[in-house]
Amino acid sequence: MKVLITGGYGFIGSHVADRFHKEGYEVYIIDNLSTGNRGNITFKHKGYELAVEDAKCEEVFRANQFEAVVHLAAQASVNTSIMNPQLDSESNVLGLVNILNLAQKFKVKKFVFASSAAVYGTNEHIPLKEELPCDPISPYGLSKWVGESYCRKWQELYGLETICFRFSNVYGPRQSSAGEGGVISIFMDRVFSGQTLYVYGDGNQTRDFIYVEDVADAIFRSSYSRLSGIYNLSTNTECSVNEVIEAIGTMQSVRDITYADRRDGDISRSVLNNEKVKRELDWSPMYGIGEGLQRTYAWFELNRAKMESATSAVSAAKLTPYRQMFKKYMPYAENLLAFVLTAWLTFTQDTDYSAIDIKLFYITIIGIMYGNRQSILAVVLSIGLFIYQKLLDGRELVSLLYDTNVFFQIAIYLFIGLVVGYAIERKNSAIQAAERNKDELEEKYDFLNGMYKEVREVKDELQLRILNSGDSFGKIYSVTKELESLEPENVFSSTVNVVKSIMSVQSVAIYTVNPYRTYMRLIAHSNDYEGQASIRVEDDACMRWVLNEGKVFVNKDLASNAPLMCAPIFYNGEIKAVIAIDGMAFNKFSLYYQNLFKVTTDLVSSALARAFAYIEATESQRYVKGTPILRKEAFASILESKKMAKTHHNTPFLMLCAAEGEAGIESRPDQIAGMLRETDYIGLNEQEKAVILLSNTGYDDAARVLERFASRGISLNIVNGEL
Ligand code: NAD
Repeated sequence: MKVLITGGYGFIGSHVADRFHKEGYEVYIIDNLSTGNRGNITFKHKGYELAVEDAKCEEVFRANQFEAVVHLAAQASVNTSIMNPQLDSESNVLGLVNILNLAQKFKVKKFVFASSAAVYGTNEHIPLKEELPCDPISPYGLSKWVGESYCRKWQELYGLETICFRFSNVYGPRQSSAGEGGVISIFMDRVFSGQTLYVYGDGNQTRDFIYVEDVADAIFRSSYSRLSGIYNLSTNTECSVNEVIEAIGTMQSVRDITYADRRDGDISRSVLNNEKVKRELDWSPMYGIGEGLQRTYAWFELNRAKMESATSAVSAAKLTPYRQMFKKYMPYAENLLAFVLTAWLTFTQDTDYSAIDIKLFYITIIGIMYGNRQSILAVVLSIGLFIYQKLLDGRELVSLLYDTNVFFQIAIYLFIGLVVGYAIERKNSAIQAAERNKDELEEKYDFLNGMYKEVREVKDELQLRILNSGDSFGKIYSVTKELESLEPENVFSSTVNVVKSIMSVQSVAIYTVNPYRTYMRLIAHSNDYEGQASIRVEDDACMRWVLNEGKVFVNKDLASNAPLMCAPIFYNGEIKAVIAIDGMAFNKFSLYYQNLFKVTTDLVSSALARAFAYIEATESQRYVKGTPILRKEAFASILESKKMAKTHHNTPFLMLCAAEGEAGIESRPDQIAGMLRETDYIGLNEQEKAVILLSNTGYDDAARVLERFASRGISLNIVNGEL
């Protein structure tokens, strides 16, 4: 089964993902990694780096049929929601609507939404119950409240089952201490780095701290429950900030605590009533604050080294602004250096080369290297140098203003500088646009390629399943073909093959039931079957159960005196026969095979119903008028199926005829029929002489059978050659 977890690389999401993975689900994650971390998930899964509001999410749903969607991705900072409400609503409202809509479109069974205690605002009727009015005080709380309404509406309008959990303060391993984080992870972080703990207020303010694995447990349970609506998810226990510090102090010494002024909007007490979720979801928090803190502490301790290396990475990152500054001013420095070189060359220039204007080279090279901005600077510097040269040659500054040659030279500098700079600038921005385009295309390609591979994998897997499936269409077709006969005897002997091959079992037996349901006779069986030829129903608890209940019997206790499974075969509402199977591999002893057995026996029942209906309709043509003797054609067909059963399953049968010099069977058919079982027949053979056909009777039984007939004055012989 597949589950999609949005925000699965985040704090709560990664624990939810762990839980589903442990329960055997295939886990899929959508996360834009804005606050999440891929390293939080260590097992095999499929992750998509996508924002929940992105239209590409549809491809993820199209390629996978999800059983449940757990929507945790959100902008989860109250401060950010106040500073940038638009960003908050993009993730928390548009993102939710996108995923909710896709869940409905692609027929997801359950949608779980992470709401928050923030929807209650400053309501002081603690412990807060679900039915209390909501009045959020931040855009974050508002977006969660709106989210709950969307979930409710999607259930009403489209029948998508949705459940919303209002989390209290969640804490535990992997919670970030950056930004707002949770107070517990911030304290843990500061305690480990020997820093002062800051408490806003006197520390007596209370919160309802819930351990993250308890949250994951509730979400997992809800994913397969029939519950929907809104539930608080909390411990219903108040714990003050001072109590948290005290508990942490028992594990690691707290260096210093500074109490600062209470922050605006901080509520003094917060606790959510959790009776509803406990009662209806059969869930209860497993971890008290003591044990939860210990587990969190152990995780922080274990990850200290990692966090330290992360800190050094952060200090390395702090160097980046200097690098950026260096990068920014480098072109100016290089430009000035080139100008100094140009000035030096100009003044030391050999008179032979004085016709060459080095400043033009300088402007062109700088323009090519750095584009417009630096080329204009190079032009300004070159004009300055040119005027300075003229002044050194003894010209008056004012006279230069009237010199058209000077203006012409300045115009050339400007022209070269602007043309080169502009051309290079255009070329650079075209290259950048092409690179951006290429990056976007590459990203799109990677995404579609990933989707394509995934769809291929699913397709291959399905194809393999169809090929390997024992009940594929091809097989079912051949099975129904085998049962096509209109002769019940044929249907019975084909059934043995059919059941053997569909159920992959060694031993199959079919018993017919007499009209009083007192006896059952073996009519067809496989080679390996070692059961009795006839059963007295009263003595056999298993068969008695099948006949009374009319259902599939499964030998769950593995009793040695009963087959592994038995199923009744009905005709006209009456049980006509029972199929028993044995010798099944242990891994097939599952609900799937029980259902398969039921389907197979239903197939047999309908084949038999057809055959019996045919026999009833053609009764007058089957029997010699007024006698129980089968006509030649009907008898030949039954004999044929007996021969087949003998060849394939070694099922014996015996044919008897009147002894030499004795009156023929035709002379007293009713008396003889009265001595036969339901599975035996009297019929006309090829020579139009009446013979008796005894099912499931071998040579070993012959003497006893002949004796029984002889005791009634009927002398019979075994028909040679027929066997
Ligand atoms: P988190 O920041 O650790 O996890 C959020 C995850 O969602 C991150 O991996 C982030 O990268 C991802 N994400 C954010 N915006 C996204 C977007 N637009 N598209 C795709 N991915 C995006 O936060 P968390 O504490 O694990 O919270 C999970 C959920 O529980 C959130 O919905 C939050 O509002 C809710 N919640 C948390 C608490 C708590 O105490 N931690 C309390 C109440 C409700």
